[in-house]
Amino acid sequence: MIVNNKRCDICGVCVSVCPVDAVSISEFAVHIDNDKCINCHKCLKACPALAITEGSSAKNKIDFESYEIGKKPFLGLKKEYDVVVVGAGPAGSVTARFAAENKASTLILERDRESGIPVRCAEGISGGGLENFIDIDDRFIASRISKARLYTPNGNHLEMRSNVRGYILERRIFDSALCDIACNKGAEMITKADVIGAERTSDGKMKVSFLHKGYKREVLCKILIGADGVESRVGRWAGIDTALELCDISTSTQYTINNIKIDSELISFYFGREVAPGGYIWIFPKSEHSANVGIGIAGSYAGEKPAQAYLNEFINRHFPEASISYTVYSGVPITKTLKQIVTDNVMLVGDAARQVNPITGGGIKQAMIAGKIAGEVAAEAVSKENYSTKILKKYPQEWDKVLGSKHRFIYKIKEKVLAAPDQRLNKIADMCKGLPPDKISLPDLFKAVVKGDPKLVSEMASAFVLSKINL
Ligand SMILES: Cc1cc2nc3c(=O)[nH]c(=O)nc-3n(C[C@H](O)[C@H](O)[C@H](O)COP(=O)(O)OP(=O)(O)OC[C@H]3O[C@@H](n4cnc5c(N)ncnc54)[C@H](O)[C@@H]3O)c2cc1C
Ligand code: SF4
Ligand code: SF4
Repeated sequence: MIVNNKRCDICGVCVSVCPVDAVSISEFAVHIDNDKCINCHKCLKACPALAITEGSSAKNKIDFESYEIGKKPFLGLKKEYDVVVVGAGPAGSVTARFAAENKASTLILERDRESGIPVRCAEGISGGGLENFIDIDDRFIASRISKARLYTPNGNHLEMRSNVRGYILERRIFDSALCDIACNKGAEMITKADVIGAERTSDGKMKVSFLHKGYKREVLCKILIGADGVESRVGRWAGIDTALELCDISTSTQYTINNIKIDSELISFYFGREVAPGGYIWIFPKSEHSANVGIGIAGSYAGEKPAQAYLNEFINRHFPEASISYTVYSGVPITKTLKQIVTDNVMLVGDAARQVNPITGGGIKQAMIAGKIAGEVAAEAVSKENYSTKILKKYPQEWDKVLGSKHRFIYKIKEKVLAAPDQRLNKIADMCKGLPPDKISLPDLFKAVVKGDPKLVSEMASAFVLSKINL
């Protein structure tokens, strides 16, 4: 396979679907090891930027041996930390914060020059429970959401209202604010630090290698935490299979559009085979004049027609006057949490652990909830001087109680909802017509979709009573 790095957006989707760990990202480019590649074409089908083609090129492989070893200490980097966190997204920052707060010496290594940039997200979050992690601040709230509209394939729509407010964030500011909290609790952070590998040492630690400003450096830790997003490789280095099936990656394109008139309190979703097969289009307002408009389609459909082609048709139809200020390609792991998210000395959190809500694709709050548990468990392991799976498994156990088991239910529903024929979705909208908006909820709608499967309906009913899904 050959990557055209001029077209590539470094979104990591290709890394997430490769079954043999032949794809990697470093030095802001994608590299494919064609000696490992088994020509399964998954990366080629799922790439939202159409940047991968068939063929073989030695240029796609990076030579780490050519890097000078950075021997001199810099910026106070210690030789060893209790905890090293790879990635400074919401999962990494919150994990680091709770590890540091509980007295574990903690280092965050982030590839990008700043946390939260580039933004690969529609930036929507429900308000409930957010204040457990951060004080709500207008600096990172673009708009406040009170209602949602779901458009069915025949163009009808249902409106829903909720008492729980939602927000459209400014993730550039939000992610950075989460990092600041972690650092204020004592965590250290190095940006432009591209982690390229990790291995267990003979004395039971992890040796982490990273590239930083032209040097290759190493740092030791007792616990390594992979908060490295959809493109995660930390798990793979530790022997955990993180590869996604094509049907479990939502391959996405999103525009931020301006010069439009829009209700800034309303989010909208559009469903249907013609609009977004195996997924949907969303409109998340950032103001009365701008919005994130994006599409996610299951990777299994992406080979037929790319997500961006569907999105362009939609924009031309609904917002012909819009000017696009930002385009981003990306992917969301819409699946169940990985069966294994810890092993000796290693934990995975957030998108890296596949902790996204499999139907809504929401992963910000989920990553923070998991991060809190992971950080506390890591610090506890440090205090007990025991970094084995036996101790660390408290984290997956807690996660399962809070959200993990619900995600397994929601995954079953996702398969039904996204595979439902257009006529069924239209019928449901007709059935709900006339109901007041505050009486229609996502759980009710999903129940209608799976009607005819009594076992699933009863499982869902109990799952959704406790569900965190709001709008
Ligand atoms: C198009 C789209 C729309 C979305 N919309 C929403 C939404 O509206 N609401 C919602 O809740 N969720 C949404 N999500 C999901 C949400 O963005 C993620 O679930 C969330 O960002 C997960 O946080 P994280 O910290 O696990 O990963 P990320 O935020 O992806 O952070 C991972 C970090 O790790 C770094 N990294 C990766 N590899 C390395 C390495 N080797 N070395 C050093 N650093 C590394 C990356 O640079 C990155 O900063 C959306 C996702 C997409 C793609
Ligand atoms: S999937 Fe993303 S990272 Fe991979 S080649 Fe395509 S744009 Fe680049
Ligand atoms: S073709 Fe398959 S094996 Fe080869 S790099 Fe792409 S995903 Fe990996």
